[in-house]
Amino acid sequence: MPRPFIAGNWKMHKIVSEALEFAGALARRFPPPQERDIVIAAPFTALHPLGQALRTSAIQLSAQNVHWEEQGAFTGEVSTRMLCEAGCRYVIVGHSERRRLFGEQNREINLKVRAALAAGLKPILCVGETLEERGDEKTFSVVRKQLKEGLNNLNPDDIRRVIVAYEPVWAIGTGRTAAPAQAQEVHRFIRQLLEGLCGEDLAAAIPIIYGGSVTPGNIRELMAETDINGVLAGGASLDVESFSKILQF
Ligand code: PEP
Repeated sequence: MPRPFIAGNWKMHKIVSEALEFAGALARRFPPPQERDIVIAAPFTALHPLGQALRTSAIQLSAQNVHWEEQGAFTGEVSTRMLCEAGCRYVIVGHSERRRLFGEQNREINLKVRAALAAGLKPILCVGETLEERGDEKTFSVVRKQLKEGLNNLNPDDIRRVIVAYEPVWAIGTGRTAAPAQAQEVHRFIRQLLEGLCGEDLAAAIPIIYGGSVTPGNIRELMAETDINGVLAGGASLDVESFSKILQF
């Protein structure tokens, strides 16, 4: 069983001073060593100062996106090397907002996953169905396609360094959480797909985390499910009190 993996996705929130204030307070509340992975996915501008401030803390840093090329004429993009220099250990790849609002496809997402792994970053690969897809009973086929294409061309040693985030699109930012049993059903399905890709032992150690309106009020019942190894919280990670409560589920 992987240890609990609790991440906050700040999206496009917090200037540097706000990010540092939050991180300082969180680091004081959760000094090392910690029995769970604690990760903040901050906006690009705050990554480097946070990396410096959190260097000796138990709080780890993630970016929210990355480009797959090492460098070049890609205006507006950020490379894996830049993220590593800033102090990141993780990067979110394929978040539904990037798929929906910025047209990201599985092919590019796979390139990003591979670039991240090659640079020593752990990708947090997001998959999940829309409300319409769930209504059409396509949840499993959508998740299967996103996962298989996102992990295309990776060997088992690479796959074991990935974190999979199941984020039903209809539960993100809506206040509507998947029922724990509903989430568990998809997490179990993802675990079985991972077993097919890299074997039972490696698949058992891969964190599969849930995202979609996670709050201090519903974290405990979600974490009670066998295949839910952690969460990716959006809105509830913006406030140090509520994120701390999630961490103490
Ligand atoms: C997210 O953005 O990954 C997310 C799960 O957001 P929220 O918790 O606000 O639904």
